[in-house]
Formats: sequence, C-alpha cells, structure tokens
Amino acid sequence: MSDREILNETLKFHGHRCWASVAGVRCGLAALRVLDVKRSGGTQLYAILETGEEHGGMCFGDGVQYTTGCTFGKGNIRKNPLGKLAVTLIDKDSNRAVRVSYKPTLAKQIAASAFMQQRAAGYQPDEIPEADQMELVDLVWGAPESDVLTIGEVFTYDHNWLPEVMGFTKCDACGELVAHAYVRTVGDRKMCIPCSGYDR
Ligand SMILES: [Zn+2]
Ligand SMILES: [Zn+2]
Repeated sequence: MSDREILNETLKFHGHRCWASVAGVRCGLAALRVLDVKRSGGTQLYAILETGEEHGGMCFGDGVQYTTGCTFGKGNIRKNPLGKLAVTLIDKDSNRAVRVSYKPTLAKQIAASAFMQQRAAGYQPDEIPEADQMELVDLVWGAPESDVLTIGEVFTYDHNWLPEVMGFTKCDACGELVAHAYVRTVGDRKMCIPCSGYDR
C-alpha cells in the first residue's frame, strides 16, 4: 500500500476526514520508517499512545492504530493518557523504540478553518461538508515533515514482554467464554468475574 492509500483507508475506517487522524498517520508512518519495520500484522510492534479521554484531537489514535497495526483489538497498544498527540513505537524483537509527536505549527490555520468553526458550532465531523473536511486533511498531509513532526532519537526500550495466554474456559454459572486469566474459582466451580462475586 502506498502512503496515500494508507491515509485513505484510515479515513474510511475512522468515519470522517480530519486533521488529527492525518497527524496520527504521519506520526505512525515516520515511526515505522525510523525503526525500519513494517506495519504490525501480529504483535511484533507495541505502541504507547499519549492521547487521553474526552479532548479534541483524540482521532490521532485511529491514525496511529491503522498505520502501525498496533490496535486495541490486538492489545499491542496502550494509553499513557497525557492529553498529547504523540506516540512511542517499540519493535519488540530488537527492543528499539522511537517517540514521535505532532507539532503545533499549523494550529492557527486549523483553528480558523471552516471545519473547526463548524465543530465549535456543535456539528459532528461527519456532518461537515466533505470539501471542508478535506481542506484540513490536505493541509496536514501536505506539510513538510519537519514542520509538523518531532521525531526523537531511537532508544532502547527494555521490557519483559509477557507471552500471550491462549484459551478460554466456559463459566460454570452463565456459560459464557472467559479468557483463562479472568477465570475465578468458587469452591470447585470455575466462573467469570461477575458470576464469582469477586471485584476483579
Ligand atoms: Zn477524526
Ligand atoms: Zn459467568
């Protein structure tokens, strides 16, 4: 896939076209390039995402996920919620990592855009005309990399990566599948957490 195809697929997955998801794609692509690794089809790569909850620009995380293949579904990404548009990408095979963050260079242009005016007026991003959405996509996509990204030095990230625990057990009470690490024992019965009465 070309970089542009990755961008287009990201926006399709994301649900609308916005500057923050493009920023995430650019950070993800830069991190892959610097580490000289491919998008994580399995869990070879691990990402630490610095966006938090309930703030603008969280769309960044979808750009990072789609581009790097580090996804919440696969579990090879976690949040260190600092409210920042930044990600650290780690190659688990070599323990090399790089942090990439998005710079505020275009902040004024973005704030003044038709897209952000409509966001401020309460419109959902996907309710905004496509041309207004694309204006900011093109702005962030077309900017020179050094204008919009800060790419750190590659560093060693030492971590004892836990192996994936495979398999599920059927809860003796409700009959639903429970991943092994979440099975609780009550007397001689194996149960899911809600059925067991334990908090966790
Ligand atoms: Zn978005
Ligand atoms: Zn149960």
